[in-house]
Amino acid sequence: MPETFVIVGASLAGTRAAETLRGEGFEGRVVLIGEDERLPYERPPLSKGLLLDQADPFLHDESWYADQRIEVRLGERVEDLDVAARTVHGVGYDRLLLATGSRPRRLPGSDHCLYLRTYDDALRLKDVLAAGGRLTVVGSGWIGLEVAAAARQRDVAVTVITPETVPLQNVLGTKVGAVFADLHRAHGVGFRFGSGVAAIDGTAVRLTDGSTVDGDHVLVAIGAQPNVELAERAGLAVDGGVLVDAHHRTSDPAVFAAGDIASVDHPLYRTRIRVEHWGNALDSGPAAARSMLGGGSPWTKVPYFFTDQYDLGMEYAGTLEPGAELIVRGDLAKRECIVFWVLDGRVTAGMNINVWDVTDQIQELITAGFGGHRVDVARLADPAVPLPELL
Ligand SMILES: Cc1cc2nc3c(=O)[nH]c(=O)nc-3n(C[C@H](O)[C@H](O)[C@H](O)COP(=O)(O)OP(=O)(O)OC[C@H]3O[C@@H](n4cnc5c(N)ncnc54)[C@H](O)[C@@H]3O)c2cc1C
Repeated sequence: MPETFVIVGASLAGTRAAETLRGEGFEGRVVLIGEDERLPYERPPLSKGLLLDQADPFLHDESWYADQRIEVRLGERVEDLDVAARTVHGVGYDRLLLATGSRPRRLPGSDHCLYLRTYDDALRLKDVLAAGGRLTVVGSGWIGLEVAAAARQRDVAVTVITPETVPLQNVLGTKVGAVFADLHRAHGVGFRFGSGVAAIDGTAVRLTDGSTVDGDHVLVAIGAQPNVELAERAGLAVDGGVLVDAHHRTSDPAVFAAGDIASVDHPLYRTRIRVEHWGNALDSGPAAARSMLGGGSPWTKVPYFFTDQYDLGMEYAGTLEPGAELIVRGDLAKRECIVFWVLDGRVTAGMNINVWDVTDQIQELITAGFGGHRVDVARLADPAVPLPELL
């Protein structure tokens, strides 16, 4: 009997895992099951290019899956997983990969509002933006800001509501968050900082300070939560995410997890890390697939993220550590620089804004920091000193 490998979650991590299984020469049965009725696609374009008619997010066309002998079962939500019997959704498996990703966090009383996670959500939003009017965005995280940027490029009036004092305050801190506030203000976005949402009446959002923001549409973008319920019900170890070792193996040796749901016991960070970013899904799916085949190496990637808003493109690597010093290399006000976060001489995070082909070097600096490498901060801040010289 050929072996059967089943993947639940037909998105980036799951599809990249299926690709890798075939790429590594696995000849058995590969079954890729997903709740979404669309063929697998990437999500970053949904809040950017797709809203401006500039992107095709699909990973492969239908014939590719047939050529690769990957059985794709779309529009099927998996509810049952029996790890003792090794069956999932009626299919017996030798190895199983869970790649069920995340869903938007929801605000009570906002079921009539727009949310953005799926291709169909993006099509709906695109139609809304095409019709014009006023959009209220609840949340000043990445998705809220990217949609605000797309909406402004469609001439839609935008107000962003956030309890933070600058956008992205939690992820980038106040000084760098202010760069994003300035960028959006320069494009006409209005902000209501320091305010929570008390209630949403139709398209009017009542704030905790008693005022109201009126608009024609409301998008709620207040973060995501991992889809861990299937793993939890099956009795796998779950704590915020599905707990996996550095080979993406769960508490059951035949079951693996990758992408947004995986909380990885990270050898570099020496703690668990769960990353809800594209780069993590892109690489952890293949890493898990290699582990399913009995190979692979421990996961040592540092978290990586990118965004595009108006003419600002940036990549961010690492994690924001409390107490880290901010070192700017270049001109932050002109939005052309690398920003480093340095703690005790070690680079813990770096963000390149409109400066390209440096993220590998930034990631190497972060990785070197785990080995005890300390940088000369003055040289780090000097754009004339090539980054490799700091390694
Ligand atoms: C609008 C948007 C823009 C983004 N932009 C960026 C960006 O610019 N940069 C960046 O780094 N990251 C970005 N991200 C994050 C990135 O897209 C995610 O980290 C990535 O999609 C995670 O991939 P995944 O395969 O783990 O999970 P997901 O993409 O969430 O896919 C999980 C899949 O599993 C399916 N599923 C769930 N439960 C079940 C079940 N029980 N049965 C069957 N199927 C199930 C879901 O339907 C879904 O298709 C963005 C996300 C969104 C939503």
